[in-house]
Amino acid sequence: MPAKKNRDKGDKSTTTTTEPTPVAIEPEGPPPPEPRPPVQVLYCGVCTFPVEYCEFGSSLTRCKEWLHEHDLEAYNKYYSEEALQAKIGTLSLEAQSKLEKDTAKKEAKAEAKADAALKKKMASQVTIKRIERNKRKHVTSVHGLEAFGIDLKKAAKQFASKFATGASVTKNPQGQEEIVVQGDVSDEILEMIEEEVGILKGIPADNVEIVEEKTKKN
Ligand SMILES: [Zn+2]
Repeated sequence: MPAKKNRDKGDKSTTTTTEPTPVAIEPEGPPPPEPRPPVQVLYCGVCTFPVEYCEFGSSLTRCKEWLHEHDLEAYNKYYSEEALQAKIGTLSLEAQSKLEKDTAKKEAKAEAKADAALKKKMASQVTIKRIERNKRKHVTSVHGLEAFGIDLKKAAKQFASKFATGASVTKNPQGQEEIVVQGDVSDEILEMIEEEVGILKGIPADNVEIVEEKTKKN
């Protein structure tokens, strides 16, 4: 027993000898980089890239607007006069003029694209249709929400729970998707859109109309 105890002690003591421990044998080389705090990456709300990569996307104009609105400090870092001068200053004159031309071209393209998207949105109409199935029974169809970036399935779910009725996404005879809600809830749906309830956000009231559809039998 005593012999074993001694050997145990001996084993433990090896860590305190003067021989270098493996950790001490480090390869000669550049000193390790200074520890830095974790990098906070700011992602662009328009193109979803980290903001310093917005210029490689095709929505720079809108990206810049977004950044200006959300983080002025970051905006100034990337797009202020000084920042742009600093970037351009390192280039040859020829490269500068090419960069300016390229940027202008890209900008014009992006602007046209953003413009078209906005126009499309403004021209898009949400149609709430009150459909009479028979004397007592109505259904309400809602068409065009998707043009405003609204998920139709989620909207149908919201209508179903709000009105405690059935609501589903179906294809109309033209092959377009629309929401059909059981019952006459057209006025209520218009109101929900106006008040931007739940996910029904960003639809100008001017772009919404209610129409009636009566069965010909009447
Ligand atoms: Zn962006």
